[in-house]
Amino acid sequence: MTYLISIAEARRRVVEAVTRLGDEDVAIDRALGRVLAENVASPIEVPPFDSSGMDGYALIAGPGSELEVIDEARAGHPASEAVRAGTAVRISTGAPLPEGADAVVPVERTAAVKRGVRVPATEAGANIRRAAEDIGSGEVVLRAGTVLGPAELGVAASVGRASLRCALRPRVAVLATGDELTPLGEPLAAGTIYGSNGFALSAQAERAGAALTRRATVPDAPDATREAIREALEEADVVIVSGGVSVGPHDHVKDALRDLGVEERFWGVRLRPGKPTWFGARDGTLAFGLPGNPVSAMVTFQLFARPALAALQGASPDAPRTTAVLAHPLTRNERREEAVRVRLRHSDEGLVAESTGQQGSHMLTSMLGADGLALIQPGDGSLEAGERVEVELL
Ligand code: AMP
Ligand code: MG
Repeated sequence: MTYLISIAEARRRVVEAVTRLGDEDVAIDRALGRVLAENVASPIEVPPFDSSGMDGYALIAGPGSELEVIDEARAGHPASEAVRAGTAVRISTGAPLPEGADAVVPVERTAAVKRGVRVPATEAGANIRRAAEDIGSGEVVLRAGTVLGPAELGVAASVGRASLRCALRPRVAVLATGDELTPLGEPLAAGTIYGSNGFALSAQAERAGAALTRRATVPDAPDATREAIREALEEADVVIVSGGVSVGPHDHVKDALRDLGVEERFWGVRLRPGKPTWFGARDGTLAFGLPGNPVSAMVTFQLFARPALAALQGASPDAPRTTAVLAHPLTRNERREEAVRVRLRHSDEGLVAESTGQQGSHMLTSMLGADGLALIQPGDGSLEAGERVEVELL
C-alpha cells in the first residue's frame, strides 16, 4: 500500500470494472427492489375512460334545478341510460361518466326532492376525471435503470403489466475470515468474538439487490482461504471477503486472490475508516477484500461494493447525497477523508448533521440510527459547528 487513492478514484475503478448482467422477466409481485431493464410504455390510456371524481349525480351543466334520477353508474358498472335535459344519473367515484353528461355534482351539495334531486348551478367539466389525464397511450412511464419501489410497481400495474423485464440479481458470496470468529449460539472461548461482518455485509448486499450464494466463515490459513475464495469465484458475480486483507503474517486474502488470477485494481484508499481495502477483477467477476473492523467493513461496502452491485444491474452507482451543517465541531484527519456516521435532523438552517457517538472503527453501534456518512475532507485542525459538509445517505 504505497500510494492511497481517493474515494472518488476507487469508485471510478470499481464502476469501470463492471460488465452489466443480463435480464429476465419477473412477475410484478416479485419485482420489489429489482432494477428495470426496459422502458415501460403504456399500451392504454390511464384513466381508460372519463369518470366521476365524486359520489353524486352526473348531469348536463347549467343553472340550479330539480332533476329526475333515471339510472345509476357504479365503479365497474356503467349506466345504461344516457343523461338528457331534466335528468341525472346517480354516480359513484370511479364510475364511467354516462353518455350525455358533462359534469358531476357531489351528493353533499344536493337535496332529495319528491321526484328526484335538487342540484345547484354546475359548470361543465366539474368533478370529472378525463381519460388519459394521468398517462397517454404509448407514453413511457418507467425507464430502464429505475429501482422498482412501491410507486413504480403501482404505476406498472396501472398500465396492465403482469411482469417486467429486470436485471438479473448479482450473485454475491460473503466470506468472513478470522480464527477468532465463534459461530452464533456457541459460547465464546477465550480470545474469540461473535463475527458481525458476515451478517451486516450480506444484509447490505441483499438490500442492494443481490442474491446471496453463500455466507461462510474462513479460518486464517492460506489453503482454507484460497479454497473458499476459489469456490466463491466460481459461483458468484461478486465475492466479498472481510478481514485478513492487511499485511500481518496471518492475512492471506490478497495472496489468495492474486493466486486465483484476480487482477488487482486498487489496494488502499485515502479513507478513514477503511484504508486497507482491496479490489480486483477476474474476467467479469469482481472481488473485494474489505477490512475486518466492522465499521470499516460496512463503510467500504457502502462506498465501493454497493455502487458495483447497482452498476451490475444497470442502475446509477451514485448513492443519493445531500449537504448538512455540523451540529458540533469535528477534528479532521490530516491525510485521509473521513466517513463520520451522522444522524440528520431539520432546523431553521436546514439539515443538521450530528455524530452518532463514538466513531472507532471497531464500534459497530456507531452505525445504529445513522442516516448517512458525512464525508470530511482531510486537513489540519477542526471543522467548526455550523460548517457545511457533504453527506452520503445510507
Ligand atoms: P483483520 O482485518 O482481519 O485484521 O481484522 C481487524 C479487526 O476486525 C480485528 O479486531 C478482528 O477481530 C475484527 N474482525 C474481523 N472479522 C470480523 C467479523 N466478521 N466480525 C467482527 N469483527 C471482525
Ligand atoms: Mg483477521
